[in-house]
Amino acid sequence: MAETIGWVGLGNMGFPMARNLLKGGYTVNVYNRTASKADVLVQEGANFMDTISSLCLESDIVVTMLADDQAVKSVYLGEGGLLNASVSGKLFINMSTVSPKTSRELEEMSKAVGARFLEAPVSGSVKPAEDGTLLILAGGTADNFRAAQPLLEKLGKASLWLGSVGAASYAKLAINYFLALTLQGLAETVLFAEKNGVSAKDMLHIVNESACGSALTKIKSPLILEDTYPPAFALKHMAKDLRLAREQEIDFPLSTPLSETYTAALQDGFGEADVMAIIKYLAKGLSNAATTK
Ligand code: NAP
Repeated sequence: MAETIGWVGLGNMGFPMARNLLKGGYTVNVYNRTASKADVLVQEGANFMDTISSLCLESDIVVTMLADDQAVKSVYLGEGGLLNASVSGKLFINMSTVSPKTSRELEEMSKAVGARFLEAPVSGSVKPAEDGTLLILAGGTADNFRAAQPLLEKLGKASLWLGSVGAASYAKLAINYFLALTLQGLAETVLFAEKNGVSAKDMLHIVNESACGSALTKIKSPLILEDTYPPAFALKHMAKDLRLAREQEIDFPLSTPLSETYTAALQDGFGEADVMAIIKYLAKGLSNAATTK
């Protein structure tokens, strides 16, 4: 396999994705702001790079899987960032969820220094990232998509090319809008049932055996029943994605309250928990309302 991959960002998603490239036979250089998160991958054969610029110099393709627009911009544009290195001919793939505007800016700036850019945000959480079964949404030139495909095949069950840079970011924000609606809907349904004497266990059974049930409701049901919310997809990222969606000037009856609810949950301290912890935030509101009656 000819190409050496540079991987920046070893969070909940980036770690298992980079690991799949290693397992797939690629030489993988890794960088993470918190260096210790690379230890396991280094034991498994990855090369840790002290700086982003050295990672860039030593790699043919550089993938970023980072928290948000600000993190991605700092890795590309900050002092010693990707675009400060010698990058002619390199392919940058940003798989983090960012705004279409940021994605287009990164493409322009990459082109200006002779590099290629592809946006490739993903649908699917930690388990599909571990299993290499993510759904990858790609935006960029056909040539850049083709160049990325062998690598993307190690990470996902399918890669969809949606057109020029920006298109995949819009698609990603749209699918996460549906995700947020579904999870808040599930939370409100369970709380409504419980308030009226139907247990969460029974209600989740009904949801999951009915036409309303889905892979998503089934994955999230155990978290509700066990009342523990270890982050697969942290709530703070959903609040970010809904904010980005609203910045695209969507104005549906549910878009504002939906975004406001997740933002309020973030401000109330649920940001580091899994997104399903929206039910904890909503339950708190119900019990506060009950005590003030
Ligand atoms: P995460 O666990 O919070 O990891 C975030 C990564 O970004 C870490 O490597 C973190 O470094 C790095 N980072 C944050 N701020 C930074 C900064 N200013 N400079 C440099 N590095 C910075 O996030 P994740 O769950 O892996 O998600 C990554 C992206 O994928 C997000 O855009 C998210 O919306 C998207 N996504 C997530 C899921 C999911 O289920 N988790 C699914 C689909 C898409 P440190 O380790 O040093 O903090």
